[in-house]
Amino acid sequence: MINKIKNYKQQAKIASGILRKKVLTGPWSVQIDLTNECNNDCLACWCRSPLLKDKSMKPEIVKQSLPYNKVIELINEFDKLGVRDIYFTGGGEPFLHPRILDIMRYIKSKGIHLDMSTNFTLVTKKIAEELVDIGIDHMNLSFWAATPESYAKNHPNKTGKTFEKMVEMAKYIRKLKDKKGTNKPRLGSYNVITKHNAHEVDKMLKLAYKIKLDDIDFIPVDTVPDRTDSLTPTNKQREDMAQKFKKFPEIIPLLERKHNHHVMFKNYEQFLRRIENTDAKNGNYDTNILDSLPSCYAGWTFARVLATGDVNSCLKSFKIPVGNIHKKTFAEIWFGAKEEEFRKHTIDYDKTNPYFKKIGNDRATDGQGCYKCCDNLGFNLLVHEKISNLGKSKKIILKEAGLILK
Ligand code: SF4
Ligand code: SF4
Repeated sequence: MINKIKNYKQQAKIASGILRKKVLTGPWSVQIDLTNECNNDCLACWCRSPLLKDKSMKPEIVKQSLPYNKVIELINEFDKLGVRDIYFTGGGEPFLHPRILDIMRYIKSKGIHLDMSTNFTLVTKKIAEELVDIGIDHMNLSFWAATPESYAKNHPNKTGKTFEKMVEMAKYIRKLKDKKGTNKPRLGSYNVITKHNAHEVDKMLKLAYKIKLDDIDFIPVDTVPDRTDSLTPTNKQREDMAQKFKKFPEIIPLLERKHNHHVMFKNYEQFLRRIENTDAKNGNYDTNILDSLPSCYAGWTFARVLATGDVNSCLKSFKIPVGNIHKKTFAEIWFGAKEEEFRKHTIDYDKTNPYFKKIGNDRATDGQGCYKCCDNLGFNLLVHEKISNLGKSKKIILKEAGLILK
């Protein structure tokens, strides 16, 4: 109940701030990169894909991790600022942070929703037991495959055996949850789609049912120009995937009956729209939808803290950090001039403004990265829908008093 009230209050303050074009509270969600170290070398990785060569993350950056005490300070600040969701991901694998389990416990003691992305190769039975005990809310497991063969193709320093172990560990966590009578952590199958796995999206869905995962998500590979573009699925592969996706609504009820289990399908329409976009062959998935949005709301709803301590306004803005937590508090950064500049450019969102040339994955060159694949798009669309659907009187109330958004 307390968490529900906190959620409503934070939603109301954020909505009120957007309507006033003035930030009144902390973000809804913060993404933390606990460490830049990683034991994988996924082909589509923006930091350490072997295809990146000179565009790889620099060795001195790869070594960076956030110190435990700094993370605890941050969580205390987030709690005071009303942050409702923390997500571990980033330039490295979160389970390589030596204090990750202590940090998870601390976050959950504050009643903040905790989610993460993981390559899921380092979770042992002992860690799995701790995760169920801590009650982390959700984990996105980066399968990117339905078979050991395609897993190995996308992960050159791993073999199909790693995939088989991941599948076994997901089943083990399901057993632990059933034994304890809990649904946490909910486990998601997360699949970046490249030319190496585009042929098996239907098998990925079937696997999620077979091993009783809780949800499934697909995202087309977001490439780094002149380095990883070769991973983009071909036109034929995109057409085949679109056909398969359109048959999923018929297949899903059969799978539900067969396995007596429900898998939430995340971002179904978003994926289909992205692969059917005429510009998708160039890796630009979001031109049509972004051009229909008058604003981007990330400056009110989101922040990312990198392992270096840099703070980014959105998932594509690492070239224009708005501050560093080793030099200022998070609140000073969040309410500071650079974040304000991001808000000013994004609330009245003119994509032709040169400011947006700094947004994007490519470390070396400038380009309009929003169009390629905006990772904050799902949340932006949700906020846009909520704000647009507010009646005139509710808008006035929210603008004036910041009352609770129902
Ligand atoms: S697991 Fe993540 S950080 Fe590690 S190589 Fe793969 S994409 Fe990059
Ligand atoms: S990529 Fe562009 S649209 Fe997406 S959150 Fe960043 S600034 Fe906003």
